[in-house]
Amino acid sequence: MTDSSPELLRCSLCQVEIESKAGYPDSVQFSSGPRGSRSKLWSRVCQYVKGPDQQQQCINQDPELRGLEQQGDAFPDAPSIDLASS
Ligand SMILES: [Zn+2]
Repeated sequence: MTDSSPELLRCSLCQVEIESKAGYPDSVQFSSGPRGSRSKLWSRVCQYVKGPDQQQQCINQDPELRGLEQQGDAFPDAPSIDLASS
């Protein structure tokens, strides 16, 4: 049976593939480097999509699907901001 085969979604705008498999978090295959999460894809690529035309093409614009941004999602050389101190 093929019910466990993942569904491959391709974002033609961001040039990535998102593997969607029931029971597992979506896995993003970047053009290079290790796989990541939708939130990582968002913080590195999709948040820079501009305008309604591009947003319609991008498959990772749904905040409910991508979830909250996780620590380490952004590029490692981004300046770290300590939000814990108050
Ligand atoms: Zn995208």
